[in-house]
Amino acid sequence: MRLGYFGGTFDPPHLGHLAVARASVSAFDLDRLLLVPTGRQPLKEDAPCAAYSDRLAMVALLCEGEGGFEPSAQEAPLTDGGANYTIDTLRRLRGQLAPEDELFVVTGADAFLGLRRWHDPDGLLAEAEWIVVSRPGFTLESLAALQLSEQQRSRVHLLRDVDVPVSATEVRRRLAVGEDCIGFVPRSVLGYIEAHGLYC
Ligand code: ATP
Ligand code: MG
Repeated sequence: MRLGYFGGTFDPPHLGHLAVARASVSAFDLDRLLLVPTGRQPLKEDAPCAAYSDRLAMVALLCEGEGGFEPSAQEAPLTDGGANYTIDTLRRLRGQLAPEDELFVVTGADAFLGLRRWHDPDGLLAEAEWIVVSRPGFTLESLAALQLSEQQRSRVHLLRDVDVPVSATEVRRRLAVGEDCIGFVPRSVLGYIEAHGLYC
């Protein structure tokens, strides 16, 4: 079994996330892809705008009708209020897999370029294969700055054909000023945002 982990704040989930997830499942033949909203992201200074329960519900809507996609509560907020670390999630997932199963982390280029700031980068690269997806405004050529060993580099797979210039920051800005978000966010997610009065 080939299992993917795609973590993020998903505040809210948008068509960029959807394109990344679809391209990863198809290019790497993943059997399952977990979309994992993070309760508290250690590297983001500001808390998410939407509550964890809303972000998980919106991720579930993004997954609807998509083969292999699964919303996952693996990074629910911790009871002590602490941050959720990817390395902990990967080790937990690995513990639930059979030895022959393969684990892949899916990440956008911007997030991966900051890998040295994550908790235990070498452990992260040892724990899984990485699928790094192109994102407008970030060049995959700058990966050299991460100074990966040859063995680490062999576990990093680049997916260069995704080109969706959408960010959750821009979606939140548009919603706050009442601009329309068709073409940025799936209709189902937009319906949830409107019904729950989020981001206004
Ligand atoms: P924000 O603007 O709030 O940071 P975001 O759009 O970057 O939101 P995140 O939830 O921070 O979304 O990202 C989760 C993951 O999805 C990260 O690995 C990020 O790189 C990736 N990602 C998000 N949007 C895109 C996109 N348009 N193209 C490629 N990767 C993306
Ligand atoms: Mg981001």
